[in-house]
Amino acid sequence: MTRFAYVRAKTVVAAVETMANTPGAKFLGGGTNLVDLIRADIEHPDTLIDITPLPLTGIEELPAGGLRIGALAKNSHVAAHPRIRTRYPVLTQAILAGASGQLRNMATVGGNLLQRTRCHYFYDTATQCNKRTPGEGCTALNGGHNRNHAILGTSPHCIATHPSDLSVALTALDAVVETESTNGRRRIPVRDFHRPPGTTPDVETALHQHELITAVELPQLPPATNSHFRKVRDRASYAFALVSVAAAMKVEDGRVADVRIALGGVATHPWRARTAESVLRDAPATEAAFREAAEAELATAVTRPDNAFKAPLAIRTLTATLAGLVRPR
Ligand code: SF4
Repeated sequence: MTRFAYVRAKTVVAAVETMANTPGAKFLGGGTNLVDLIRADIEHPDTLIDITPLPLTGIEELPAGGLRIGALAKNSHVAAHPRIRTRYPVLTQAILAGASGQLRNMATVGGNLLQRTRCHYFYDTATQCNKRTPGEGCTALNGGHNRNHAILGTSPHCIATHPSDLSVALTALDAVVETESTNGRRRIPVRDFHRPPGTTPDVETALHQHELITAVELPQLPPATNSHFRKVRDRASYAFALVSVAAAMKVEDGRVADVRIALGGVATHPWRARTAESVLRDAPATEAAFREAAEAELATAVTRPDNAFKAPLAIRTLTATLAGLVRPR
């Protein structure tokens, strides 16, 4: 275990100023991923800035509709909140599909966005990993097992999937991440928050070095929109997605009036399914149209022998999720 200093921040201003003035520091929220990474010798912070005292746990109405969720709201609190359950069921379902009750009681919304991959080579310091040690190579691409790896958004440097279910739902919902730093406040659409690996798989988000996530805003969905999250995994609980789908759709007169789709488990970052959405816009809300859209979305998938099953599985899962939104469950 690497030794590190520990400080508690009592205000957002103090937290971001301490971060800006402390090289090698990391913010500590629920700690459900960061502490594991420190124990595994992957992360080596010199200082942990404990942000749990900050007043960032509320869920509030936005003046223009929609909800603002504090970055330190616990996943279990968000999932159970009546306004989330009734207005954004896809978000409740995504959170409840992830981790365990104990972890959801600790994990925060901001921390969930920053989860790092569960690629087993990333955690195995005896193997090569460009995300852990830039320029070292990628064991998953060079003869390793890649059954759980990505088929969309990959690069020759990394094919690891993004692990967060919550981020998939937030991507479908057009959520916005609010941040603070000594340079002021920023608003980043979730769809732009997670970066594809490209040549720098170690750079995973659009966050600047000293930025603190303070909230996530959910825009209001069009009235009469149905939403749902479906996750396919190797066992029924406490497993990461092989494929997941978050979808919100409004149907009028038998046609798709509005649709938002994101995929998880198949891509290097929460994957907004823009191709499928454009195929479906104003299309008849039929299973045939849903399958056509799903096939179009997966047409650019790059599979490998171990993970080739994910493309047809994603097509079936997306088709079934959309069909479920137009038939009573
Ligand atoms: Fe590392 Fe990415 Fe390769 Fe996994 S897929 S070993 S995280 S570079």
